[in-house]
Amino acid sequence: MLPQLLQTLAISTLLAAAIAAASATTRPAAQPPPFKVTEIAEGAYVSYGVNEDISRQNLGAISNIGFIVGKKCVAVIDTGGSIAVGRALRAAVKQRTDVPICYVINSHVHQDHIFGNAAFDDSVTFVGHQKLAAAMAARGPTYLNALERDLGAAASGTRIVAPEQTVSATGGELELDLGERILELRAWPTAHTDNDLTVYDEKTGTLWLGDLLFADHIPTLDGNLKGWLAVMQQLRELPARRAVAGHGKIDHDWHTALARQQRYLNTLLNETRAAIKAGKTIQQAVDSVGAGKDSGEWSDWVLFDLFHKRNVTAAYAELEWED
Ligand SMILES: [Zn+2]
Repeated sequence: MLPQLLQTLAISTLLAAAIAAASATTRPAAQPPPFKVTEIAEGAYVSYGVNEDISRQNLGAISNIGFIVGKKCVAVIDTGGSIAVGRALRAAVKQRTDVPICYVINSHVHQDHIFGNAAFDDSVTFVGHQKLAAAMAARGPTYLNALERDLGAAASGTRIVAPEQTVSATGGELELDLGERILELRAWPTAHTDNDLTVYDEKTGTLWLGDLLFADHIPTLDGNLKGWLAVMQQLRELPARRAVAGHGKIDHDWHTALARQQRYLNTLLNETRAAIKAGKTIQQAVDSVGAGKDSGEWSDWVLFDLFHKRNVTAAYAELEWED
């Protein structure tokens, strides 16, 4: 176990240096978050993000990111919320295998999934949804400003790196060969965002869902609520043995996690629709949708207070003009 502990410490040192830079003028150096990768299936590794908003303490290590190792090369799936996290992930790959990284796949545009890309921008092919580049161009400047505000000097070097190879939601799957290991990439119609992409590792039956699935962490809506629910119906049919959510750990089977998210999104849909039909304003809807559901799983979602009202606002805007 000792060598593994040393590896974890070495990677943590990278994050610690970045945190020290971020904190130098404002506070004593914080403890770095441990950067640990878990082998969830043969040759498939995940670093689980903390269920928090991006901060100087976590440096954007708030989403689940990881990599898959083939005989020929490695595919990285999502890169974290800053270049510091991307560097830590790259170091983790190097400690696990000697084969080179050939692909960096982004599951969607959100900053906690793409901002480590620059740590890999010398020898890999970046892959994403056909609509990812446009979303990066539209959101990138705002995301970078927010990161500089939140991370200070530790944001330095973080930049947008767009996909070079893309997958269309209507054009069928893209297969990537890592060497005796095929990944099937599938682009989806608008759901969590308008650029969601999943990765299926045939060899182990592992499905990487990005933020099409949240576990523990409340789902966040930035695409289309009805579209997301429709996509989830299709996800349920996929033959995966296990799945990786974009946030949070799936404790039991992934269908249970999917069903829980479905219950939240269905309630969001039905109650927001009812509020609109009852003539409530958006503020009244925000105050009432989900109110009274303070027991059981509803209130067990992590970061509920931060995101639920935003979800109602997004749902209201989407549903306001439907027939
Ligand atoms: Zn997201």
